[in-house]
Amino acid sequence: MTLSKIMGHAGAIRALQHALEADQIAGTYLFTGPEGVGKTTLALAFAQAAACLHPIRSPFDACGKCESCRRVASASQPEIVLIPPAGDQTQIWQFWDRDGKPGGKLENTLIHSPVIGKKRVFIIEKAETLTIPAANSLLKVLEEPPSYAVFLLLATHPARMLPTILSRSMILRLTPTPLRELSEYLQRELKITMEQARLFSAYAEGRVGTAFRLASNPKAFEAMDDLARFTLQSAQLPPLEAFKYAEQIRKKAAGSKALLLQEGDSVEDDSDEPSSKEKAGRTQIGTLLELMALCYRDFMAASILGENAELIFINHRDEILRLSSGRSPESWRESLDFILKARRSLDRNVSVPLLMDWLSVRLFCQNS
Ligand SMILES: [Zn+2]
Repeated sequence: MTLSKIMGHAGAIRALQHALEADQIAGTYLFTGPEGVGKTTLALAFAQAAACLHPIRSPFDACGKCESCRRVASASQPEIVLIPPAGDQTQIWQFWDRDGKPGGKLENTLIHSPVIGKKRVFIIEKAETLTIPAANSLLKVLEEPPSYAVFLLLATHPARMLPTILSRSMILRLTPTPLRELSEYLQRELKITMEQARLFSAYAEGRVGTAFRLASNPKAFEAMDDLARFTLQSAQLPPLEAFKYAEQIRKKAAGSKALLLQEGDSVEDDSDEPSSKEKAGRTQIGTLLELMALCYRDFMAASILGENAELIFINHRDEILRLSSGRSPESWRESLDFILKARRSLDRNVSVPLLMDWLSVRLFCQNS
């Protein structure tokens, strides 16, 4: 994707285009913003534009036709290098050959000027995962980079990075896109329905990367809709069913593999390590809780605004309107708060069975 085709991030893109146009790009950029906001997409588009041999001017962008651009399109431009963490950390051997093992991405590349494109670009994803030795070795490079090298560091949690690296970087903050804008964009560009686009944008909370991943996954809508139906059905459970419900939530979540969103998720899930399996389970329960929260947001909106509510699950509109009238807005809000609280607790490693029991009791034994 080229810079001009990117959704959102207008301010950041303009700043990058100005720098490209004036031939004054910094040696190191740091793109920050929430997971899934589109940091990698922007980094790749910027890299392509910076390496392009015959760029388009005002606004500056890659030509899409030169040797460098064609290689980007076929994922064979070796001078644009993406370095994701190896597991939970980004380690020094990913940069430099160590212990006689080749494979360091900066070794034997950084010292040579590019031959295909105009720049060598190194994109370091999740830069907050750099180990101290890796960060220090990188710092030496960032202090005096060759003129043809550009480093793009991407981070969700920049506060966890070495201050010395932060101070070397030109920082650009990426923020989520307004839901309506994102939803319209998804409908237009990916030819998906309004129901799908609205749900994906809302679930992604405006994070373009996440919305795109969902919209490109042919099973996602069905899986999300299935979880929504489950939530709608369970919203009318009698209190005595609450404990059965806790078990049902876990079973339901375990069946929602189509919604594993992060690239590493499916890998973790295939692994035999118990801790990885547990983590995948948590990811799925997290997804279910996030969808439940969206459903309850709809209940709350419908109980306040009735027919005029702008719902996320528009394909379940009638049922949501019917169910929502059975309780007060405050009572829906209270349930929504419990779901959000459970979602936050999940990240703090509490026991999943205990958490689901707690949530079920809160949801079903207090509103009767
Ligand atoms: Zn080009």
